[in-house]
Amino acid sequence: MKLIPMDDRDGSIWLDGKLIPWRDAKIHILTHGLHYASSVFEGERCYNGEIFKLTEHSQRLIRSAEIIGFKIPYSVAQIDAATKQVVAAQQLKDCYVRPIAWRGSEMLGVSAPQSTVHLAIAVWVWASYFTPETKAKGVRLTLAAWRRPAPDTAPTASKAAGLYMICTHSKEAAEAQGFADALMLDYRGLVAEATGANVFFNFNGELHTPTPDCFLDGITRKTVMDLARKRGIKVVERAIHPREIGKAQEMFLTGTAAEITPVAELVMEPTTHQFQVGNLTRMMMDDYSRLVRQQPLLSSVSAA
Ligand code: PMP
Repeated sequence: MKLIPMDDRDGSIWLDGKLIPWRDAKIHILTHGLHYASSVFEGERCYNGEIFKLTEHSQRLIRSAEIIGFKIPYSVAQIDAATKQVVAAQQLKDCYVRPIAWRGSEMLGVSAPQSTVHLAIAVWVWASYFTPETKAKGVRLTLAAWRRPAPDTAPTASKAAGLYMICTHSKEAAEAQGFADALMLDYRGLVAEATGANVFFNFNGELHTPTPDCFLDGITRKTVMDLARKRGIKVVERAIHPREIGKAQEMFLTGTAAEITPVAELVMEPTTHQFQVGNLTRMMMDDYSRLVRQQPLLSSVSAA
């Protein structure tokens, strides 16, 4: 497959208040965000012209920046409007949306209180995080070598770029061994999440997911919990130990990019766990896919 570089595409990117040609959306090499990871971002999806939970994403972007000590100079309403503007300008109805805010290049040093804060929003067609075939069969995961840090060690509630250093490394290491992604444990050795998605298990018809006390409490995660409860499925948020995984019948990942992706296999040397792409996973996939497209949920399906 021919790679189309991200910096060499047609169209416009919203940068600091206006739309500019895609190829001109550049920053200087001495940018604080690049050197010291003073950068926060979002990942959103637009379905049939509607950005799913846009305002929640804009709020999280502002909050992510506050957590790591800088202020985005736009309100939630302004970010919402700018996002809609760039989606319309790109004439896309189904696309991925990437807002990013960072400290600029006025000062370069660990402390840079006078640096200005920038915001850019780019959109492009990104059909699937995992290929549709992999997604239908369920993905294969391995265990990441890195662990999610404690909340007093890193700003774990922020969608801060710096936290993705260990995600990129873990996902690339997994892919190099033929896996789609890696499951990350946390600093206590408990199940946390994948490198860019949250995780759910079906334990005897109940949906269990780790308590998000040191990783992102995903918007898709919360959406799936609501959808499951509406179906009368018991949802349990709790600390999940890796040795319990063998008792789960199904496992799936949730995230804006990953949507709901079933897991077929999890290799945790010396053990390999296998899961079926079962009814509960398929029901959640169907409900989610209808909700994001504003279609009515089917009333007749059952998780049994
Ligand atoms: N965890 C991480 C590390 C992520 O990057 C993402 C994707 N934003 C998620 C979880 C899922 O979050 P959301 O459902 O809000 O996209």
